Amino acid sequence: MALLQIQEPGGKQAKPLHRLAVGIDLGTTNSLVSTSCGLRVETLPDSEGEHLLPSVVHYRKDESPLVGFQAKALLVEDPLNTIASAKRLLGKSLAELKSQHGYLPFEFDNSRDDGAPAILTVAGSKDAIQVSADILSTLVSRAEASLKGALEGAVITVPAYFNDAQRQQTKDAAQLAGLNVLRLLNEPTAAAVAYGLDSEDQGNVIVFDLGGGTFDVSLLSLKRGVFEVLATGGDTNLGGDDVDHVIADWIASQMSESTGIEIPSQARLLQLANEAKHQLSDQKVATISSEAWSVKLEESTLKELTADLVRRTITSCRRVLRDAKLAVSDIDNIVMVGGSTRMPLVRDAVAEFYGKAPLTNIDPDKVVAIGAGIQADVLIGNKSADSFLLLDVNPLSLGIETMGELVEKIIPRNTTIPVAKAQEFTTFKDGQTVMTLHVVQGERELVSDCRSLAKFELREIPSMVAGAAKIRVTFQVDADGLLSVSAEELSTGKKAEIQVKPSYGLESSIIEGMLQDSHSNAQSDMETRSIKEAQLDATQLLDAIANALRVDGELLSEAEVGTLAESIKKLESIMANGSSVQIHAATEELNQVSSEFAAKRMDLHIANALRGESIDAVEKQAD
Ligand code: AMP
Repeated sequence: MALLQIQEPGGKQAKPLHRLAVGIDLGTTNSLVSTSCGLRVETLPDSEGEHLLPSVVHYRKDESPLVGFQAKALLVEDPLNTIASAKRLLGKSLAELKSQHGYLPFEFDNSRDDGAPAILTVAGSKDAIQVSADILSTLVSRAEASLKGALEGAVITVPAYFNDAQRQQTKDAAQLAGLNVLRLLNEPTAAAVAYGLDSEDQGNVIVFDLGGGTFDVSLLSLKRGVFEVLATGGDTNLGGDDVDHVIADWIASQMSESTGIEIPSQARLLQLANEAKHQLSDQKVATISSEAWSVKLEESTLKELTADLVRRTITSCRRVLRDAKLAVSDIDNIVMVGGSTRMPLVRDAVAEFYGKAPLTNIDPDKVVAIGAGIQADVLIGNKSADSFLLLDVNPLSLGIETMGELVEKIIPRNTTIPVAKAQEFTTFKDGQTVMTLHVVQGERELVSDCRSLAKFELREIPSMVAGAAKIRVTFQVDADGLLSVSAEELSTGKKAEIQVKPSYGLESSIIEGMLQDSHSNAQSDMETRSIKEAQLDATQLLDAIANALRVDGELLSEAEVGTLAESIKKLESIMANGSSVQIHAATEELNQVSSEFAAKRMDLHIANALRGESIDAVEKQAD
């Protein structure tokens, strides 16, 4: 693997000034900003002392938007002008969003050419980039007020599974907010940096991130001072909210057993459940009271109620280990991220699975922002960066379509980035002067089962026989996960390239689905691939024979043409529904049958060539 060396700025020269840079955790629910305060990196509070900024924006007519708690308070009152969870809209088209989520509580602007989801508000139409920019601007103002100066740069964290479009739109939002993005950093990498795990020589780190609605687990590896993400996994529909639901159901069932109790609304039940859950993080028994009724929820009951949810997190942990081909005993540290990792039963399950206690002493809500702040301090040049290099992975294989609608993987899934890889391709047809390059993402063998990222053409390929042209295709993924693909015809240097910014987004649930599909279809995919390859070989032979018969058919007797035609017919019928072994066998048989013909053609052409040479020679002598 040809890793591009990346040179971080700073570190070598003496720096007279401390430059102002921040780390930003731009979260779906809450966002945070952090910066280096002397020896430590800390998150910055607002004027009310609140560190978390709810990622909610409320738009008003002729006034600047409200961001954070004030906006969150208006979610119910004015839902059409109050936008929450904009992160989920990044990199998506409106059509995709509607198909994924069904009803959405907004009016969308249908006049956008790019199909991006933009929400109609009293302040105009707002897309996810603008909403994210408003959140970022609020954090920038907070930081600049606190640091008393203008920011020079920021590191912004993104989920490890974010695709190119989602990363690019995060950068666009930062640009709109006037921020200089030093780097987008994957969230798990930031968490490990917060614990200083990058300063150790080597080791494998699990980042276990269980929030309110999503679960992500990542495996990072530290080797010779280099940090890599080896594998990622998780579940987009698993988190503290599910715990609230199982407790709410339990409360309702307890209430229904007591006569004369009116079961409150689901919203109230969930509130009671959430309070009980939080109590059980500090004590063994929680008291749940509503009106004149009360019940005790024991830690052991909560454990039973959540056993299935916890088991699902552990299943993902097991899968990540398997993806990275590591054993539990290879894990040196476990970092806990997300509010739900405060639950003792989650910590216990993780400790039991890995055979060691997880790291929990940094606030799990702040750990990602703190890591981003540490990285920002390095990248802006306040700290030595000599041995500090962060690498991440691309979550799905990237490849190119080849003949037969097959996928040639160029950068396999879980390859550390930045990375550049090149591979040579050639033309399939004689005189082919244009090649279409179709860039795809996914684990399956057929193009139709993968995501199409982009298509572009390399033109003006010199006319040559099939297979003679050499076209080098280079895939390059930069430190922020953006993909550039170039194709170069080597004899002329003609080049075409594309930066991939797919208009359709990709969520971890889709990644998860694609991986599951690739596992469950692995065998049939391989069979389909080998059949397609066998069919391609057969087609090439049939084309060559048809061509030869057209040119030199008279070399064969009627009987020979008959035998050949029979063999051709047999191959054609086997090609339609035979196995790859049968197609190969029939191709080989046709090869044998046609070898005599090939030999005769060879003789004829040699004879012709010799004749030409002797005439030349005679002419020369005559001169
Ligand atoms: P996050 O999305 O990371 O902010 O996580 C929010 C989730 O963490 C919610 O489901 C909260 O109920 C849960 N949470 C926060 N604090 C605690 C706690 N002390 N005990 C149990 N769950 C908690």
